[in-house]
Amino acid sequence: MDYYYLVEKDKVRSSWAVCTVVKPLAKRARQPELPPVMHRFFGPDPEGVVVMKPQYEGIICKTCGRYDDDTMFAIGFSDPITIRFKGDFGHTEDRVFAISQKFLNTLRQAKVLGFETKPLGSSGWHAMRVTERIDCDESVMELVGPFCEGCNRPERVPGAFTTIGQLTLPAHANTLFTTKRGWAKPVRDRTTFLTQQVVEALKNAGIQGGWCNRLWTSDEARLIEEKRRAGKKWNPPGSIVTL
Ligand SMILES: [Zn+2]
Repeated sequence: MDYYYLVEKDKVRSSWAVCTVVKPLAKRARQPELPPVMHRFFGPDPEGVVVMKPQYEGIICKTCGRYDDDTMFAIGFSDPITIRFKGDFGHTEDRVFAISQKFLNTLRQAKVLGFETKPLGSSGWHAMRVTERIDCDESVMELVGPFCEGCNRPERVPGAFTTIGQLTLPAHANTLFTTKRGWAKPVRDRTTFLTQQVVEALKNAGIQGGWCNRLWTSDEARLIEEKRRAGKKWNPPGSIVTL
């Protein structure tokens, strides 16, 4: 059996669930009681000012403005929600992994294990959290400072799981899964992995929005490295399933 990780297409337009984008007010109309602005983490959106909804204020680091995906998911999601993906899945700018109704129906019909969802307000989309959690070789991820003085999160976390040997594989053949440990990556804390059976269910249902990349065997990883040293970029056959 093969194992894969999910990769999203680049998004053209921004989507928001935890924050909202408010149109900048004219100077004269600006009110002193405006909620706190999350410029530091998200930066200004081309369409206006990014404001975090008040229910999430308790989970953010007061120094750097970052937060964990799990604690955010636990709070849930209320309107207004803006989802503007072309396909059936993707991360919002504020770290929510959103799937379409079609994506959710496909998982349910295929009896896929290892996830939970919450409605994204009345948008018709769903936030998904992967619940099947596995051990992994944590040294794959590098923690690069400076570290935040408030929460100790690193500035950057380069590294990615690419081979089967880096993960303790799940017991079920029909499941989504991810690592127990999360890392403060810019878009998400954890990578979403899928068994071959789940990839086939998504592909057969016509789910779109990115790729499933196959985790390599150690032999394949060694070959890739040999070719890289020889100046060649090479992917083993069947490495990518396009969604
Ligand atoms: Zn911090």
